[in-house]
Amino acid sequence: MARYAAPGQPEGLVRYRDRYDHFIGGEYVPPAKGGYFANPTPVTGAVFTEIARGTAEDVERALDAAHGAAPAWGRTSPAERALVLHRIADRIEANLEALAVAETWDNGKPIRETLAADLPLAVDHFRYFAGVIRAREGGISQISDDLVAYHFHEPLGVVAQIIPWNFPLLMATWKLAPALAAGNAVVLKPAEQTPASIHVLLDLIADLLPPGVLNVVNGFGVEAGKPLASSPRVAKVAFTGETTTGRLIMQYASENIIPVTLELGGKSPNLFFADVAAQRDAFYDKALEGFTMFALNQGEVCTCPSRALIQSTIYDDFLADATTRTEAVRQGHPLDTETMIGAQASNDQLEKILAYLDIGRREGARVVTGGERADLGGELSGGYYVTPTIFEGDNKMRIFQEEIFGPVVAVTRFADYDDAIKTANDTLYGLGAGVWARDGRTAYRAGRDIQAGRVWVNNYHAYPAAAAFGGYKQSGIGRENHRMMLDHYQQTKNLLVSYTENAQ
Ligand code: NAD
Repeated sequence: MARYAAPGQPEGLVRYRDRYDHFIGGEYVPPAKGGYFANPTPVTGAVFTEIARGTAEDVERALDAAHGAAPAWGRTSPAERALVLHRIADRIEANLEALAVAETWDNGKPIRETLAADLPLAVDHFRYFAGVIRAREGGISQISDDLVAYHFHEPLGVVAQIIPWNFPLLMATWKLAPALAAGNAVVLKPAEQTPASIHVLLDLIADLLPPGVLNVVNGFGVEAGKPLASSPRVAKVAFTGETTTGRLIMQYASENIIPVTLELGGKSPNLFFADVAAQRDAFYDKALEGFTMFALNQGEVCTCPSRALIQSTIYDDFLADATTRTEAVRQGHPLDTETMIGAQASNDQLEKILAYLDIGRREGARVVTGGERADLGGELSGGYYVTPTIFEGDNKMRIFQEEIFGPVVAVTRFADYDDAIKTANDTLYGLGAGVWARDGRTAYRAGRDIQAGRVWVNNYHAYPAAAAFGGYKQSGIGRENHRMMLDHYQQTKNLLVSYTENAQ
C-alpha cells in the first residue's frame, strides 16, 4: 500500500496557498468586503487554507470582466476554442496526480478514485467538447427559389455556473467544457465546502484563456450564489445541487426570463432480478459489485444507488452475499491507494447522515451492517467517516424517500416485474437507476419503464462524456454531457434572406 503525502508536506505534490481570493479578469482579486472563511480538510478536520467570502460586489466585478471578454471570445473560431480545450486537457493530464491529491484533500474522497475517475474523466470531457464543437454545424433551409433561411449557433454571452461539493473538479469541468467550447464567458461559484481544489486547477490553466473568459467567485449560497443567479447580466444559469435550491434558482432566473439547467437530487433504485443468481459466476459477482456502488464516493453522488430492490426468490441469499461484499469495502486514510471509502465532505454532511441513521432505526428499519460513525483513530479521529450501512425496510420509509447523500442503502424486496417498476418509480426523483438481469428483454423493458434520465443496465456509475445525463421529475431540467449539451449553451440566429430584386 502506498500513501500520497498530504499537501504542504515536503515530499507532497501540492502546496495549497494560505489564502485564496476571487479569480476575476485573469488575476486574483481580494473580496470587496474583506471577509474570508476557513476551509478544513475532511480527512482530519484541520483547517488548511482560507477563502475569500464573496458578496454581490464581487459578483458584479466578475460580471464586468466576463462581459468585457465575451464578445472577442465568442468570435473565435471553433477550431481556436477546441485548441484551448485540448491544451487544458493536456495540462490536467500532465498534473493528474497533483490535482488528484488536491481534490482528495479538499473533499475527502479516496485518492484511488480521484486518480482513476475524477481527473481522467475531466481530461476526457475537455477533449470530447473540443471534438464536438468542431463538428457543430448550422443549417440552411431553402424556403423558395430566392428565399433562404440560414441558421447560426451563437454563444449566449455570459453564463453563471454554480456547483456542489461532491465532485468539485469534475462538476466544474462538466459545466466549463461545453460553455467555453460554445463561446461563452463564465462566472463560476464553487461550493463553500470544497472551495480550494479549483484554485489549484486555475493556477495550471489560467494562462491558456484570455483574461475574463473564466472567472471564479468564491463564497456561500445566499451571499454569492444568489446575486449571481439572479443577475440580469447573465444569459443563463447552470446549477447542480439540491432540489430545494434548484427551485430557488428557477425563481431567480424567471425574473430575467433566462434559461436554466438544473442537475438536482436523486433516490436512485438499483434492481436485481432473480435470474442474476441463476449461477454464481462472473456476472453474479459483477452484480454484487453493482450493489456496493452505494458506497462509492462515500454515497455523495446524486445518482447514488441508495435503494436496492431485490426479487423475493433470491432476496435472502443475495442480500447475504451483498453484505459480505459491503463489509469488505476498505475504509481508511483517503490518501492511501487501497482505500475504497474515505471521508464525508463536511461536518454538516456527517451530522446529516448520522441523523438519518437514527431516523431509519426509529422508523423500524433493520440495520444489516454498519450504521455508525467510524473512528479511524490517530490523526483521522477529527475527520468525518461513516461505515457503509445497509438498512432493510419498506419503500414508504423516509430513508427510502429522502436523499441521505451518504454511504447508506435502503433495501427491500419485490415480487414480480410490475411490483419492481412500481416501487422503483415511487419517488419524487428520476435521476438514475440500475437494472441487473441476464434476460435481455427484462433488462430492456425495465430500462424503458423506469422514470429516470439515466438507467444503467448491468453496470453502474459509468460517466462517459458522450452519454446524456440528467433528471426526470424533480431531479432536474436539461442534460449534461453529450454534444446535445451545446444546445443549452448556444442560441439560434436565423437570417431569412431574400435574393430577389423586386417585390415578388
Ligand atoms: P446545495 O444546493 O446546497 O448547494 C449547491 C451550490 O448552490 C453551492 O455552490 C451553494 O453555495 C449554492 N447555493 C446554495 N443556496 C443558494 C442560493 N440560494 N442561491 C444560489 N446558490 C446557492 O447542494 P449541495 O449540498 O452542495 O450538493 C449536494 C446536492 O447536489 C445533492 O442533492 C445532489 O444530489 C446534488 N447533485 C446533483 C448532481 C446531478 O448531476 N444531478 C450532481 C452532483 C450533485
